[in-house]
Amino acid sequence: MIAFINPIHVLRTLVPLVAMMLTASITRGDEPAAAAQATTPPLAPPAPLDGRDGRDLTLENFRPQSMLAVPVHHLPRAKFPVVDVHVHPRIRLHHSPEQLDDFVRTMDAHNIALCVSLDGGLGTALDEHMAYVWTKYRDRFVIFANIDWRGDGRADDPASWDCQRPDFARRMVAALEAAKAKGVSGLKVFKDLGLVYKNPDGTYIRIDDERWSPIWAACGRLGLPVIIHSGDPTAFFLPIDEKNERWEELHRHPEWSFYGPDFPKRDDLLAAYLKIVERHPQTTFIGAHVSNNAEDLAAVSSWLDKYPNLVVEIASRISELGRQPYTARKFFLKYADRILFGTDGPRAAGRLFPYWRFMETDDEYFAYAENPFPPQGLWNIYGIYLPDEVLKKVYHENAARIIPGVREKLAARK
Ligand SMILES: [Zn+2]
Repeated sequence: MIAFINPIHVLRTLVPLVAMMLTASITRGDEPAAAAQATTPPLAPPAPLDGRDGRDLTLENFRPQSMLAVPVHHLPRAKFPVVDVHVHPRIRLHHSPEQLDDFVRTMDAHNIALCVSLDGGLGTALDEHMAYVWTKYRDRFVIFANIDWRGDGRADDPASWDCQRPDFARRMVAALEAAKAKGVSGLKVFKDLGLVYKNPDGTYIRIDDERWSPIWAACGRLGLPVIIHSGDPTAFFLPIDEKNERWEELHRHPEWSFYGPDFPKRDDLLAAYLKIVERHPQTTFIGAHVSNNAEDLAAVSSWLDKYPNLVVEIASRISELGRQPYTARKFFLKYADRILFGTDGPRAAGRLFPYWRFMETDDEYFAYAENPFPPQGLWNIYGIYLPDEVLKKVYHENAARIIPGVREKLAARK
């Protein structure tokens, strides 16, 4: 919830109350102090700033209902089978078998044929995760591994982290080879690399640190695509003030802000990411969340033009794409072979419906999430009515071409 209380509003409410109390004690005459103590009622809570009866309105109470009368298409499911390449069954479902059953039912209802779990881990963590998703649903999931940069080291002591040992990359390459042999389809790298983790000298661990080069090279050699979350939305790197387009979200989650001299610069993070894409042309890189730059599709287009080994996926970014529908539609048509579908799920049905509506209809000005308050910026989105050939590519054909195991599992379902 939002705890935003403007002190001016509080003063406006309190000043008349205090004035009333003073007046009451003075007009009562005798023994003003004792009388005030005995008879003054406790301060009434300030009236909610709900915009009613002339009161001011806080952002947290603002719930505008659109009065537009335009066509509405509630699509219950995707038009063609979908491969969701960005799903977190470990992080979001906590390895609960019941929740996995529920989610597979949601997949069926929405025509999601296959999901890519980005939560595999390596070693015993990977074995546990494989048992979790594959015991019942081997035909519905492929799995990406993750690297544990810290290992058994202490969180507050970077010198003790596994990645600081000289043989780290060599051991990770061996673990990835073993994972590949067990049927893993790729590698996911979380945003902590570059944005959170530090070296013992206090500098941030760079994603383009040469020490990790053998890992990216091995993924190319093994045919494992690498999906990297590098950076975050532009607004998260700006001051949390009245100009920030995601003020409400950052106010709820100040820990998502990376603004200030203590954090890496967003442009540096994106540049470091592109550097490893450039250095490893044999490795396929999947830019998570439209390469974390959905606000600037011209820049993402230039990257796709420059790096044939780069593709992007759209998880949690229809909020960005759908508020620039002309630009986004051109982007999807031009790069139809380079865009994968993703949601950052498992998500409840309410979060999935807007994806189909965005991709398939020309509906105007609708909510991109089921929340009563838009969670990623106070705006609505527009559909981009992609043609069937493009939908098929983005929904499953590109994933079948790029991610090992997807084609076989899709074919087995037919
Ligand atoms: Zn994610």
